[in-house]
Amino acid sequence: MTDTDTTPATTDRAQSTDQAQTWRDDFSRVLSPVFGSPQLDLVRGEGSYVWDAAGTKYLDLLAGIAVNALGHCHPAWVNAITEQAATLGHISNFFTSPAQIGLAEKLHEILDLPAGSAVFFSNSGTEANEAAFKMARRAAGGGRPFIIAIDGAFHGRTMGALALTAKEAYRAPFAPGVPGVVHVPYGDVEALEAAINENTAAVFIEPVQGEVGVRTHPAGYLTAVRELTTKVGALMILDEVQSGIGRTGSWFAHQDPEIGEGITPDIITLAKGLGGGMPIGATITVGDANTKLLEAGQHGTTFGGNPIACAAGLAVLETIEKDGLLDHALDVNDWLTPRLTAIDGIGEITGQGLLIGIELLPDADGQVPDSKAVAARALDAGFIINPVAPGRLRLAPPLTITTDELTPFVEALPGLITG
Ligand SMILES: *Cc1c(COP(=O)(O)O)cnc(C)c1O
Repeated sequence: MTDTDTTPATTDRAQSTDQAQTWRDDFSRVLSPVFGSPQLDLVRGEGSYVWDAAGTKYLDLLAGIAVNALGHCHPAWVNAITEQAATLGHISNFFTSPAQIGLAEKLHEILDLPAGSAVFFSNSGTEANEAAFKMARRAAGGGRPFIIAIDGAFHGRTMGALALTAKEAYRAPFAPGVPGVVHVPYGDVEALEAAINENTAAVFIEPVQGEVGVRTHPAGYLTAVRELTTKVGALMILDEVQSGIGRTGSWFAHQDPEIGEGITPDIITLAKGLGGGMPIGATITVGDANTKLLEAGQHGTTFGGNPIACAAGLAVLETIEKDGLLDHALDVNDWLTPRLTAIDGIGEITGQGLLIGIELLPDADGQVPDSKAVAARALDAGFIINPVAPGRLRLAPPLTITTDELTPFVEALPGLITG
């Protein structure tokens, strides 16, 4: 459109009387079918809420899958991005920027990293794990063919991360996968002991498994992973893509004494909450020896660590700190968990802080409620929740959410479960 063109920028969609059908049609005409049909056409967000094109308001209890740590359009996040975009948007990794160095310094600080530790920025969780995968291939000087992953794990969808992901249905259509990954049963120290040896380069593990329905490992398991990897000279690679950045009430889940059992991993991967909605991932090597896993030129990314994503990340971390959101996440969990367990039909509440799994119990006829149907009824009632697995719901709301905002959901939930 030119300056003199006064035609209003309306689309067929806006003029349609059947808006919902139109955007669905538009979507399927121009976008990939890989995500299935989208549930809503969202146009605006503020704090814990989003609005669809028809003006309906939803309480967002998923936060873009544990991404919108500060909720939607937090002023600190918006200002950081806006100012950075107006100052310096992209530069490539031939150069660095104050935002990139600032975010890396802040990560060093909140992870209390020893000297020599190093941050590699990328753009997503799967990329953070791809970098860690390449580092694993270089473990102990290279030549160790096997990497161990845990049943129930989710590490991403690109070929390396996919090979680490447990679900056979995700991997099978893309065979042959990246070779050398051994999957061991969840929580089974003996099976791990049997699988690990001097040919093992690394064990990849999430401190809290998100995609399987929010589950931690049995007591002692992370300690055993640490001891066994150290014994054979393999890396312990901790995937905190979902559990990091305050999600569980600590900066990182492994810093929680109960979840992390005091272990120190060799490599930590991050994404999701780190950018608060801007795409950014990070692969962090802990300690001097691990820094040397990749030499100059052995890995790269054009966008990774770009100033805007880093400015967003810095705003997220500074706001979590300034507003006490780690303690807040624990306080909200303390308020919410007893109210959830008091509801008929709800069993165990798993996870910690604001990464919460809800078990749905079988009804009087022995039928486990269909979590997808529960989530669909919730959406109709104005609540975005995630049917993460059969019989399990996942909540990962903004770390800024208040108990007042959660109250209507808690009141509605019994009716949403029974239907
Ligand atoms: C979401 C997730 C990933 C993949 O992140 P993407 O940004 O979707 O590539 C990897 N690991 C864990 C634990 C995750 O939850």
